Amino acid sequence: MATTGKIGVTTENIFPVIKKFLYSDHEIFLRELVANAVDATQKMKALAASGEYGAELGDLAVRVELDEAAKTLKVIDNGIGMTEEEVDKYINQIAFSSAGEFLEKYKDQLSSIIGHFGLGFYSAFMVADKVTIETLSWKEGAKAVKWSCDGSPEYDMEECDKADRGTVITLYIADDEKEFAEKKRIEGLLNKYCKFMPVPVVFGKEQEWKDGKYVDTDKDNVINKVEPLWARKPADLKDEDYNEFYRTLYPMAEEPLFHIHLNVDYPFNLTGILYFPKIKNNVEISRNKIQLYCNQMFVTDSVDNIVPDFLTLLHGVIDSPDIPLNVSRSYLQSDANVKKISTYITKKVADRLDEIFRNERQQLEEKWDNLKLFIEYGMLSDEKFCDRAMKFCLLKNTEGKYFSIEDYRKAIEGEQTDKDKKVVFLYATDVESQYTFIEAAKAKGYDVLLLDCQLDSHFVNLLETKVENARFARVDSDSVDNLIAKEEKIKPQLSEADQEDLSVIFQAVLPKENQYYVQADNLGENAAPILITQSEFMRRYREMSAMGGGMNFYGEMPAMYNITVNMQNPLVARIMASKAADVAPAQVIPDAADDASEDVKRTVTEAKETAAAAHKSDLEAFAGDNEILKQITDLALLANGMLKGKDLSDFIARSAKVVEDAYLK
Ligand code: ADP
Repeated sequence: MATTGKIGVTTENIFPVIKKFLYSDHEIFLRELVANAVDATQKMKALAASGEYGAELGDLAVRVELDEAAKTLKVIDNGIGMTEEEVDKYINQIAFSSAGEFLEKYKDQLSSIIGHFGLGFYSAFMVADKVTIETLSWKEGAKAVKWSCDGSPEYDMEECDKADRGTVITLYIADDEKEFAEKKRIEGLLNKYCKFMPVPVVFGKEQEWKDGKYVDTDKDNVINKVEPLWARKPADLKDEDYNEFYRTLYPMAEEPLFHIHLNVDYPFNLTGILYFPKIKNNVEISRNKIQLYCNQMFVTDSVDNIVPDFLTLLHGVIDSPDIPLNVSRSYLQSDANVKKISTYITKKVADRLDEIFRNERQQLEEKWDNLKLFIEYGMLSDEKFCDRAMKFCLLKNTEGKYFSIEDYRKAIEGEQTDKDKKVVFLYATDVESQYTFIEAAKAKGYDVLLLDCQLDSHFVNLLETKVENARFARVDSDSVDNLIAKEEKIKPQLSEADQEDLSVIFQAVLPKENQYYVQADNLGENAAPILITQSEFMRRYREMSAMGGGMNFYGEMPAMYNITVNMQNPLVARIMASKAADVAPAQVIPDAADDASEDVKRTVTEAKETAAAAHKSDLEAFAGDNEILKQITDLALLANGMLKGKDLSDFIARSAKVVEDAYLK
């Protein structure tokens, strides 16, 4: 008997609401319809397995059929079907009361909610202006029914003559949604959403190349893998299987470094395979590659809020029916199940790395440079992970050898402990430009680490808080003797005036764009006359603010260098002697008496300023004429890669002359 009725929702018309809010995500309708068909098929299998259904099951594939000309799309299954009462109950009485209010509240997350509130089927109306259901229940004596609806809340329901069990959903694709009547588009969607669904999904026929074109064969084109790798037992799988699966997920990506197979069924259900990809210096391009599935149905590829931030750098698949999709994304983080899942995954990742560290050390070392950024990022952002990683994190030295943090500390402890009992970890960030400093440290019997990755300035700070009694110092941040100070050295005794003179003459010949702090030190007769270094502290702050750490005060300051003048070096001694001979000491003007008039005081102050300025200009003139001074300063700048442009070409001309003088005269 044919009936006409009104679909039971409280809003006047739910379809415009669906259309409006799901605008950006129309394509998910196909996932919903195929998922329903897959569900109905699996229920059928379950009935057969339990003996409730005794007859032949027949072909259980779900078929998607597109008629491009007629603009109809059918989803066909041989599942349990529905009786008239069931259509009425499941389709006509939409399963919740205030649909409009609900949709308004959750409009941002609708695409993930839709399947969970009985709205799945209705998503068909996002792309179709008419939908029909023809269905025959598996139940004895059931009559086939046909339901149809054109998008208004009115539907028609009548008996029909469908002879075989199951359901056919037909969508009459709307004119403004024409793309969904194109073969390529549907194929793309099936690949995206249905690739791992647990029942074969057939779309058209396999094709072959014949007489200069592709033609259909009579073999069904099954678009999915019914048993995805993550659902199989790890014991049955080889590395090659995992790598091949990786290639199907990311055809363009490089081979992954390692993988982890996740499998847990208590206290929550989760399976999956995660891969450590090669991460070079660009973190962002690696992000958000993990695909989230719910019982083999693709849900999303954005898993932020479900796993800790650093794990979004991993690739692979997570499948869990226990991740609530019907709540807002920001609420996810506080969900108890999600918290457990996130902790579990973090722990598994750490376990796996620990295992690799213990059993595949060679492999770990070989792959470390590509893995390092991920581990450091994890250590910096996740305290628990950091505590675990302190054991398996490797350090690489400038000779390319790898050590665990603990082993490294033991190895350098003997030579590199300073007078305050701190073990000093020396490091370089660039072997080429810091070569002289690295060599100087090595000559002392010290070892130098190579920390050349994006995050290393933060990482160094972290390690200082984690490794007891340790300090990190970049090789070029001071003279070797000062980097690891062994005992109190005798500092040169300079009067305040001499110290000031020293500063003026060196500043006069150094590039103007930076700031300098000039200090005298005793580095030994054979050590270089001057050393240009950058304080560890200032450099770290500048680097971190450059990376967007927010400490802009330091970031905007000019670079600040320490100029250490080695008073024991004979060339320096020569310069100081010439200065004493050529530059008259500053004129000493006595202070005005306390009870002198304001006028007299002012005159005295002005006279002092004039005398100081005159002395300064004498010193600068001296510095400008002193070849040795210029030559040794330029050599130090050259060693730091700081000699550029005109200064460099002047230096070369001057050096050429020095060579000529030495050999030809
Ligand atoms: P959900 O699948 O989330 O429950 P839907 O609106 O997609 O919501 O479907 C509502 C109900 O309609 C399903 O729970 C199921 O009982 C029934 N149904 C939908 N599609 C089919 C189908 N192809 N075969 C059998 N029953 C179906």
